Amino acid sequence: MDGNGYVTTFSEGKCYILKNGKPVAEGQRRGKSYCVALQPDKYGEGHAAVVTANHKLWHQRLAHLSPSNLLKLSKMVDGMTSLEDQGNASSEFCETCVQSKLTKQPFNGTRPPTTRVLERIHSDLCGPIRPTAYIRLNTSLL
Ligand SMILES: [Zn+2]
Repeated sequence: MDGNGYVTTFSEGKCYILKNGKPVAEGQRRGKSYCVALQPDKYGEGHAAVVTANHKLWHQRLAHLSPSNLLKLSKMVDGMTSLEDQGNASSEFCETCVQSKLTKQPFNGTRPPTTRVLERIHSDLCGPIRPTAYIRLNTSLL
């Protein structure tokens, strides 16, 4: 609300939300919190917040659901922003998803630099690869 020109003041157990100096809502202190109640008869029409959610926000809200399932879900339920109009979501990068799918921890330690050729060799096996090669190999050493 602060970014939209609203000002909130606190005094004597009450809080007031003002826009352009005019009160739009008030609340009462209850313990350590303030409860704001909408009072359309006192402050005119009710105020509602409309949040336009995009792919990324829905993805985060729904426990990092896959883009294809998000699209299916948006067609099945009411109240969810139509995601079909917002383009392709599969291209959006989600760091949380990538980190949650990691099976190994990153290499944080450093090793001393090598001094001779072939002192340290980095390799990995890749496979099985289909179709099998002419000489019946389906694994490759990288
Ligand atoms: Zn995610």
